[in-house]
Amino acid sequence: MRVAFLSSEAVPFAKTGGLGDVAGALPKALVAEGVDATLIHPLYDTTDRALLRERVFDNLEVDWLGGRRTVSVYLSYAAGAPAFLIDAPEYFARGKVYGFPDDHYRFAFFGRAALALLGRLGQAPDVIHGNDWPSGFAAAWVRAGRPWGGFLANTRTLMSIHNLAYQGLFDPGDLYRLGFKGGEESNVFLSNGAASSLKAGLMTSDAVSTVSPRYSFEIQGPEQGHGLDWLMRQRRDRLVGITNGVDYDAWDPATDPHLPAHYTADDLSGKRACKLELLRRFGLPEEPGRPVIASISRLVAQKGFDLVRQVAWQVLEAGAAFVSLGSGESEYEGFFQRLKDSAPHRVAIYRGFSEPLAHQIEAGADIFLMPSLFEPCGLNQMYSMRYGTVPVVRATGGLDDTVEQFDPETGEGTGFKFGPYDARALLGEVREALHWYTRPEVWRRIQRNGMAVDNSWGAAARKYVRVYHALFDL
Ligand code: ADP
Repeated sequence: MRVAFLSSEAVPFAKTGGLGDVAGALPKALVAEGVDATLIHPLYDTTDRALLRERVFDNLEVDWLGGRRTVSVYLSYAAGAPAFLIDAPEYFARGKVYGFPDDHYRFAFFGRAALALLGRLGQAPDVIHGNDWPSGFAAAWVRAGRPWGGFLANTRTLMSIHNLAYQGLFDPGDLYRLGFKGGEESNVFLSNGAASSLKAGLMTSDAVSTVSPRYSFEIQGPEQGHGLDWLMRQRRDRLVGITNGVDYDAWDPATDPHLPAHYTADDLSGKRACKLELLRRFGLPEEPGRPVIASISRLVAQKGFDLVRQVAWQVLEAGAAFVSLGSGESEYEGFFQRLKDSAPHRVAIYRGFSEPLAHQIEAGADIFLMPSLFEPCGLNQMYSMRYGTVPVVRATGGLDDTVEQFDPETGEGTGFKFGPYDARALLGEVREALHWYTRPEVWRRIQRNGMAVDNSWGAAARKYVRVYHALFDL
């Protein structure tokens, strides 16, 4: 089984969120399952050149905007699977991954170049596995090309949704210039008066997957369908939810190179050292007995910050300290800044993106807060469990699939969950967590329950392999 895995971000080349973690780990896990998986990824100016092994092509020709563009392609093994990185500086050397008015041109070019690269490599993959809106163009081109046979005539496509809210919208007037010449080829993009590369990918791929079973159901309803629930229902026979795994090579408190001390479920003393170091790092009082509640997140409405905002003071009054890592919408950045200004000995914030700090907070905190409005899978709750940091989450999407409510009767469970998107419900579970935190033997139990959960990628990779094979039975 030969799989070309297309992603606009993948650790260690680029990461803005969960897709980066997934695309950095899944190809490697597929290789471990015997799949001939290759990652295809843009070469950004922010990518560390030391990760690149060699330039494999300096003259890959790409049909583009009615003409030809020539790009270089680099090979890297830094993600554990072979990765080809497409060097097109006019599109990818811009200091960040997304957020430009011509993003649709940038990632349409990426799709074009990926297909040109596959042609140049000379062996058609069995499956092209695209991820999120930046990969939608490639799926659409594969479908558009099928009536003419050719190189990819027998290649199947799978499109994975990591977040249905990001749809790659652009002006449909650009479709023609991008090479979609009307009729069905262009219609697949149209969505409420705009063009959507995600929608095109979902319409034209042979099957669709998403990153947790619960999310695969939620997106079939109007509440979480982001206007595409009709399409999800239409494709439900070819829609599967596979929960993401965790790359324990990168996220294991026993070996994590970012941590000042290491620990395991049997000996948690290193976690205490990590907590003290975290408090020092942020200039918070070194009070190891005070519970530290953490958040590591893009500061966007999806992540439930409207609820956090409503309960923050009560949580501080209940005795907790708060550490937040993230940046995003100004109203949430402003909220955390004000909270910190009002309670500087209890609140610490780092506005920005820092991979080392994300690891240090996972290790040093006691409780991890993830009250998302919706959450396709979520990774930090799984990292938290492995790091003995107890998650408090809203029971939605992958959060519901991966966190088991703690039951004091049986001692089972890995965290605390609330259902309604409601500040009181969140506060109730935070208080519940804080209550059990004061009972060290119970708290250890919850920590150990979480640390014992095996969310490694192997099981998920085997499910993807089954999906790849099923594409040939359609
Ligand atoms: P999403 O993909 O919606 O952002 P996920 O929970 O699936 O949410 O994945 C987010 C990933 O990005 C996690 O690995 C998390 O640690 C990381 N992350 C988010 N914000 C930051 C930040 N400010 N600094 C470092 N890592 C971050």
